[in-house]
Amino acid sequence: MQALVLEKKGELSLRDIDLPLEVGPDDVKIAIDTVGVCGSDVHYYTHGAIGSFVVREPMVLGHEAAGTITAVGVHVKNLKVGDRVCMEPGVPNMNSRATKLGIYNVDPDVRFWATPPIHGVLTPEVVHPAAFTYKLPDNVSFAEGAMVEPFAVGLQAATRARITPGDVGLVIGCGPIGIMTALAALAGGCARVYISDLSAPKLAIAGQYAGIHPVNITERKLADVIAAETEGWGADVVFEASGSPRAYDGIFDLVRPGGTLVLIGMPVEPTKFDVAAAIIKEARIETVFRYANNFDRAVNLIASGKVDLKPLISETFDFAQSIEAFDRAAKGLPDDVKLQIKLRG
Ligand SMILES: [Zn+2]
Repeated sequence: MQALVLEKKGELSLRDIDLPLEVGPDDVKIAIDTVGVCGSDVHYYTHGAIGSFVVREPMVLGHEAAGTITAVGVHVKNLKVGDRVCMEPGVPNMNSRATKLGIYNVDPDVRFWATPPIHGVLTPEVVHPAAFTYKLPDNVSFAEGAMVEPFAVGLQAATRARITPGDVGLVIGCGPIGIMTALAALAGGCARVYISDLSAPKLAIAGQYAGIHPVNITERKLADVIAAETEGWGADVVFEASGSPRAYDGIFDLVRPGGTLVLIGMPVEPTKFDVAAAIIKEARIETVFRYANNFDRAVNLIASGKVDLKPLISETFDFAQSIEAFDRAAKGLPDDVKLQIKLRG
């Protein structure tokens, strides 16, 4: 079967590869329609590794996917052939302690698409457990279905924040996950959300949404803006979505006393922050790793019309142009939020 294969760092090919397609009793087979290009896919392409995950043999890329069910296992009751679906790319060990606790995203045994050595889904057909496959309502497109995965990260952040209605939020970093987090924070009850970056085009895209207020940190100091906008009190919830170690300089100046800091962006290096500043405000610190139990909520919010992710899809490529799509994503153009690859016409 054809697939977009990362042969090794810096080398992609669209070629045939043997992938298992046997449908187990609890599995479904899906004809892939649309796959989003994620920063992590691009990072494996350009760097060959993310932290301790190293590409040592050819690996199919792609984990943000939607498609149509073409076969169901004998035990599957929740889905049928012809259903349009999106898929949660991480499958935990269903008997693990983490899974029993409902925190299956941090199960040490989780198998996650396009995370070495597990193949991703930039290929026409995949088999996946029905338990991690979610039906899309008729009014949610495949393109939107392929946006559920990154949006679920935003929802995990909003959930971990324990937002109270009317909270003021701040998201540091206006990449795709930053924007998803801002939208999830609004959906989760924030009255308004500031979002900071040094890229004016990215901020302009985020600023299209009602309730999201861009702050260009090349023009204004973030701490000054937040102080001015909150009468010197600080934001109720600060989401760090840039992954930049520099974001941690003075980060607790942005958090209100008793407020919350949610860490989403993953710095490449060990990162320093001011523990005393956190303690003095008795700030609560939460971390986010992927998501658990947020795919269905993401689908519900998109279907309700409360969250519109369509403006974030910058361009769609054909499967045959997959390498071109990755080379474009690797450039990190400031106007690009999400690039997608469509496998079916
Ligand atoms: Zn992703």
